[in-house]
Amino acid sequence: MLADAHYYFHKAADVLNLPDRLREILVTPTRVVKVDLVFDDDDGVLQHYVGFRVQHNNARGPMKGGLRFHPSMDEDHAAALANLMTWKTAVVDVPFGGAKGGINCDPATMSERELNTVTRRFVEQTKDVIGPMTDIPAPDVNTNAKVMGWIMDEYSKYAGFSPGVVTGKPLQLFGSKGRDEATGRGVMVVLDEALKDRNKSWQGLRVAVQGFGNVGANAARLIAEQGAKIIAVGDHLGGISNADGLDIDALNDWVQEHRTVKGFSGGEPFNSPDVITWDVDVLIPAALEGAINEDNVDQIKADIIVEGANAPTLPSAHEALVQRGVLVVPDILANAGGVTVSYFEWVQNIQQFNWQKDRVDQELTDIMRRAYAAVKEVAVEHSTDLRTAAFVLAIRRVSEAAMARKYVAEDIQL
Ligand code: NAD
Repeated sequence: MLADAHYYFHKAADVLNLPDRLREILVTPTRVVKVDLVFDDDDGVLQHYVGFRVQHNNARGPMKGGLRFHPSMDEDHAAALANLMTWKTAVVDVPFGGAKGGINCDPATMSERELNTVTRRFVEQTKDVIGPMTDIPAPDVNTNAKVMGWIMDEYSKYAGFSPGVVTGKPLQLFGSKGRDEATGRGVMVVLDEALKDRNKSWQGLRVAVQGFGNVGANAARLIAEQGAKIIAVGDHLGGISNADGLDIDALNDWVQEHRTVKGFSGGEPFNSPDVITWDVDVLIPAALEGAINEDNVDQIKADIIVEGANAPTLPSAHEALVQRGVLVVPDILANAGGVTVSYFEWVQNIQQFNWQKDRVDQELTDIMRRAYAAVKEVAVEHSTDLRTAAFVLAIRRVSEAAMARKYVAEDIQL
């Protein structure tokens, strides 16, 4: 997975003629942490998981990135996703660097007490390298506001009251209004920009969404509110389609109860992987990485793809889509709404001042539109696709910050 992240990095670095020395510095993580998390399970049996935190770069500010609890979590995943965070925070121009981490556990098989204990062990083991001015975790796959609240509580035992150590917290623990839906809202806003680019309108737009968790469900709801039809949704257990448009509120109620779209009565069932090749105008991958690959790219019908997930498109598939003229809004732009409102949450925590939801939504919308415009400008300047342009913009910003700190020689011109 890290190799894929590096592929996009080097492609953009070639556009910038970035010297090898600077490339090496920019791809090397600042710090890699691996911790053993030993705990008693509910039967009193000694168990353990492994936790990771890769802190990639802090040239532009404290490191920032999610925590993923998933059996496939390992150092390679953490490093690749940390890398993406560095570029993502730079694309939306928030004052953070990049990090990512997680635990190789499966919360679906754990009790809440076990999850709580393992989360607190992780904080115990990483407390010296995280903090409001050092590295600020956030939710990712299988982690949520509740887990973030536990992290804040555990860290505050060591460092004193520290709401700014983590974002995506519950509102009662100084979370931000609008954080829950922020990534989905950002997806909707950049899709609005992409539609303008393609002279398309919201009315009657047919959309397919892979993943119906935090990102997919919120994006689907906000996109449907604009007048588009969500006609297919697939998740880890199944898919559901309705050519007239799914009732997203009813689907959401179903998923809250059943943890899957499978079995929802408001549409026809289908095999989940088919969602990627559904006959639609817009495809939103919002699940795990590698969803768009050599096996399915030629069958994709959508001509706009907005990457709600991180790294959903493998490099070979990316090249095929660019060749075919499909407009792909890349992950480091499209799903940056989450980290943007995390930034607002951190600002509110530091200032001890709460923003109203209208303000959060408006500032988020402004930042997403500005970032889209900045990426598009670079794409035009270098006659390249939006993904390469987003990397060019981000690498330029991170390199300039690194050089301004005199990490590297001043003779490098970008
Ligand atoms: P989530 O755990 O809330 O939801 C994940 C969804 O993906 C679920 O609906 C699940 O059923 C589905 N899924 C899992 N495996 C699948 C498979 N093999 N096929 C089809 N569907 C599958 O996670 P989330 O927070 O919505 O994150 C989704 C993606 O968005 C991840 O790549 C994450 O890194 C990225 N992301 C999340 C945020 C955020 O704020 N939550 C921000 C930026 C990027």
